[in-house]
Amino acid sequence: MPKKENRPGPSTQAVHAGGARPQPYHALTTPIVQTATYTFADTADLSDFMEERMWGGSRQRTEYGRYGNPTVSAVEAKLAALEGAEEALLFASGMAAMTTVLLSLLSSGAHLVITDDAYRRTRQFCLNFLKRFAIEATVVPMGDYAGVEAAIRPSTRLIVSESPTNPYLRVLDLPRLAEIGRRRQVKTVIDSTFGTPINQRPLAHGIDLVIHSATKYLGGHNDLLAGVVCGSGALIAHLRQQLWMLGPVCDPQNAFLLGRGLKTLALRVNRQNENGLRIARFLEGHPKVARVWYPGLPSHPDHAVAATQMDGFGGVVTFEVRGDLETASRLIDAVRLPLIAPSLGGVETLIEQPALMSYYELSTEERLQVGIKDNLVRLALGIEDVEDLMADLEQAFDRI
Ligand SMILES: *Cc1c(COP(=O)(O)O)cnc(C)c1O
Repeated sequence: MPKKENRPGPSTQAVHAGGARPQPYHALTTPIVQTATYTFADTADLSDFMEERMWGGSRQRTEYGRYGNPTVSAVEAKLAALEGAEEALLFASGMAAMTTVLLSLLSSGAHLVITDDAYRRTRQFCLNFLKRFAIEATVVPMGDYAGVEAAIRPSTRLIVSESPTNPYLRVLDLPRLAEIGRRRQVKTVIDSTFGTPINQRPLAHGIDLVIHSATKYLGGHNDLLAGVVCGSGALIAHLRQQLWMLGPVCDPQNAFLLGRGLKTLALRVNRQNENGLRIARFLEGHPKVARVWYPGLPSHPDHAVAATQMDGFGGVVTFEVRGDLETASRLIDAVRLPLIAPSLGGVETLIEQPALMSYYELSTEERLQVGIKDNLVRLALGIEDVEDLMADLEQAFDRI
């Protein structure tokens, strides 16, 4: 564990960080500055702005919507505070954040190391899309640190990983990965979407960049798509330039919703941690469940690592129903509260069968090759009363 950082608690930061005081019009909340462009009083005002920018000045304004927005900046500051980062940069989606980071930090001929069990689109981007730019990726099994070391070549620029992962909630030893990166002079990038800054702060363990799909826990209400990258001032300044060119910026309406959602992040995630642990224990004791994957359970392969580096184990629980594809489908059709949908991290509990959601077009055999069993169910808990969720699951199990 890193030393307890000397900073306000996460709920205080979630509510107060990033907002200017006073706000325009003495509003309590950050206004939605819904504009595509910004005006100048006269040519002298414009010249002053351009001169100052040429010399690296930091006037509190910009000239065009792709280059900045006050509503977006306020949310970036809040996220930086929560993640313990010097700076944060918002994007239109989690994938926009991930692809911009990869395109910005890798040149033709470069190599990256990525752990398996990664978000499917991230893996696709690394293995297929980047190949067109002669960028090679080596996939290393999650938890194989010697394998990560062995995969590093002189051309390796990035180690990309996720923690906890989807759907098996594998947890990476963050200090260990950071140490490898530092010693071999390779930057480390962690997709911390499932972790949230409430449960883990990878930068404090020495990781270089943290990425989130803000669509999930950070937004928290299943009503927006956004992404964020957090890291040092120098790295984020570089990425900001690339974002201004590539263009997947977060719009002010979205940023407002995200900032509003973030105020209750700690409350929501703490509740989801509680629901996750209670439901995982309930499922592990259930005769119709073959296996449960939850890092808070001693039976999980990464429980020890998770217990040392996480403050909570999150709201996603994955389990195998005793039976086949159809048995799992029957359970999903029998529950009443959880809604059938991809995604996670919002206030509503969602349920899905990975074999039929993210991996539908693969055969059972192909799915097994990527480690997805047909009878697997992923439950992404919301903030409902856990007794209601348990009663609902119980009645559903009775009917399969
Ligand atoms: C959802 C998700 C993404 C992609 O984020 P979008 O906001 O959907 O683009 C990336 N990584 C993880 C772990 C995710 O869950």
